[in-house]
Amino acid sequence: MSDGISRRSFLSSGVLGVAGAVVHRDLPRAAQSQVRPKIKEYRTLGRTGMRVSDVSLGAGVSQEPAVINHALDLGINYVDTGERYFRGQSERVIGEVAKRRRKDFFITTKLEVHKNHTEEQLIDRFHGCLERLQTGYVDVLMLHNPVDKEVLTLPAFHSAFQKLKSDGKVKFTGLSSHEPIMGDICNFAIEDGRFDVLLFVYNFMQEKAAEIIKHARQKDVGTTIMKVHAGEHPEQLTIVSREERQKLQEEADRQTLLFRKKYGFTEKEYFGAAIRWVLQNKDVGCTVMSMRNFEQAEEYVSNSGKSFTNDDRATLDRYAVKIHNAYCRHACGECESHCPYGVAVNDVLRIDTYFTNYRQEKMALLSYYEEIEENRKPLPCRTCEGFCEAHCRYGLPVRNRLISAHERLTM
Ligand code: SF4
Ligand code: SF4
Repeated sequence: MSDGISRRSFLSSGVLGVAGAVVHRDLPRAAQSQVRPKIKEYRTLGRTGMRVSDVSLGAGVSQEPAVINHALDLGINYVDTGERYFRGQSERVIGEVAKRRRKDFFITTKLEVHKNHTEEQLIDRFHGCLERLQTGYVDVLMLHNPVDKEVLTLPAFHSAFQKLKSDGKVKFTGLSSHEPIMGDICNFAIEDGRFDVLLFVYNFMQEKAAEIIKHARQKDVGTTIMKVHAGEHPEQLTIVSREERQKLQEEADRQTLLFRKKYGFTEKEYFGAAIRWVLQNKDVGCTVMSMRNFEQAEEYVSNSGKSFTNDDRATLDRYAVKIHNAYCRHACGECESHCPYGVAVNDVLRIDTYFTNYRQEKMALLSYYEEIEENRKPLPCRTCEGFCEAHCRYGLPVRNRLISAHERLTM
């Protein structure tokens, strides 16, 4: 990826949606690159036996069919999406690719399941997924980020998945989690025995999932990893007013360049080091990476099969120092029990990261934040003493972060 994504790219990928109607002008240049990296390593995804590219593609950000096609041409063969990603639009984009080359890649999609859902409702919704994906089956159907362990044992969910498997529409069952209860949820699923593949958070600043990976290997459950880059662009943690929204990307890119210059980072070395850090754990099946354009796909793929080095360690150490008290660790939530008002600290700050760092403002605003119950939003923070801050071992200025997050996400 070039130094920063241009405003043009941002507008086409983050704000205008993923219909594929907007063409990135920078795609052909990358596509014409003479020496393209290729996937060098495929790993077995637990008992599924699926051999997946160590660097794989996550469709949680807006993408175009051409980018997915290019990723497949580079050797990526596992694509992760979900019913709710861009309200089905992510599946539609993948469907544009799947209708021509379904056999070239595995597809994982996800359904959110609640306790009152019936078997028929879940099957109906899944048929919607198949229609959008333009395929007759998916390789893995995941339970999307369950809120508690009870969801994992719901009879309606299991009978629906079982029926879909009998009909040949689903091959394996999976589960994703990035909640504070991620460890409990994943370990419960592993012991339950009915979940073949997991997707969860593991990165150089959030290592506690190493225990999940070890447990999964013992039970032959496949592991796929998200949020590889921790906070991604800490320098973009800027407050952006309504009037500035159109200039968000240009300013973020400028800040990114200044940050890198000041601390001697190059994007390539940081992103590569973070990917290689995860993949040095040989029990990991694959990293699931969002790829916005051709160059980013090539950059990520170039890390396939590579070892984690001392230089990588030094890069990540320098980065970790800079964002130590800025990165609200995914799947943490340690401070939440100390909030007398029950604010969903980890969820709010994670969604704020989608907004500020991942450039997914539309999705964050319209979907995720709205779904947080009103009594769990950080409304009391303005007048509160900030009890949570004393219980964040990383020293985040939690109260102010929550106040500004709420402002951004409700504007
Ligand atoms: S603010 Fe600190 S303690 Fe609270 S969830 Fe984030 S990282 Fe964990
Ligand atoms: S500032 Fe107060 S209200 Fe807000 S999350 Fe922290 S403890 Fe809860």
